[in-house]
Amino acid sequence: MIYPWQQSQWQHIHQLLESDRLPHGMLLLGNQGLGKTDFSFAMANAVLCQQPSADHQACGQCKACQLLAAGTHPDLHHLTPKAPPNSKSKNPVLSIRIDDVRALCDTLNQTSQYSGYRVAIIEQAELLTIAAANSLLKTLEEPGQNVLIVLSTSRPHRLPVTIRSRCQILRFTAPEEKLSLDWLNSNQTVQVSAEQLKQALKYADGSPLAALDQLSQAEHQQILSEAMTANISGKNSLDYAAKLAKFAKIQTLEGMLSWVSDLSRISACGPEIAITNEQYRAKLQALANKASKQRLFRFHDQLNFNLLHSSIAVNEQLLWENLLLSWDNL
Ligand SMILES: [Zn+2]
Repeated sequence: MIYPWQQSQWQHIHQLLESDRLPHGMLLLGNQGLGKTDFSFAMANAVLCQQPSADHQACGQCKACQLLAAGTHPDLHHLTPKAPPNSKSKNPVLSIRIDDVRALCDTLNQTSQYSGYRVAIIEQAELLTIAAANSLLKTLEEPGQNVLIVLSTSRPHRLPVTIRSRCQILRFTAPEEKLSLDWLNSNQTVQVSAEQLKQALKYADGSPLAALDQLSQAEHQQILSEAMTANISGKNSLDYAAKLAKFAKIQTLEGMLSWVSDLSRISACGPEIAITNEQYRAKLQALANKASKQRLFRFHDQLNFNLLHSSIAVNEQLLWENLLLSWDNL
């Protein structure tokens, strides 16, 4: 996807493709939330599409575009930072490791499956380990025919100079405020005031996608709080299950854990204890007065079980209905 604030960068790619001067390595620089990843995919799609448009955007119809949309094109490779294998930490140190880069380079050195380009997208390239960066250098220096490696980073100073110097750099900057506000206005899902939009954009350092993310998180928090206090406010919590299904499952489960933790703290330490959902203290206190410890522990286990198995697809509306019922019956 090309966002409205990326027109000049796309124009540059268009000219490179038009004159057959697309380099093997491109480095996209700019703050988070400016859409660099979507731009990388737009570039990949453009070179892999079998019938691109006159301005070199992918057609969205051909066999290659169908494979790209399904995420199964054999000539597109995508590397993102990962936790170390077997890491049990909740906040593991993420990196792009040498084994993954070696495997990528081996694939890029083979002939393409569709007799066209082989493309690699490497996100958060500053998290390449030194060994991984060194391993990538050789392929950046002698990439073979029709290879495109698109790296992106918001922290270019952490990237080895050797990598930076072998790529053509494309910069992304925060767009004019009016352009961002117009785009946010037509892409947000909740009604917020012009002032709130401006504030979100300010917090996001002018990055429209980061601002949209913040607005969505605020909406998520609001709906979760309403769902968790619905029963005690005389409303039906099940009305919120479908609304919660719109948001990321893990964040909702973690949000619910913070409510369990608050309730346990109030039950164990009394009404003065510090809690996360401070603005709902009175309602949490009322819940704590009636909750059974056994059922609270069982609910806690239920949340942890779902977090542990969060990669398994489930009917999310049903999941939230079950959990909200358990919460209401503590
Ligand atoms: Zn196409």
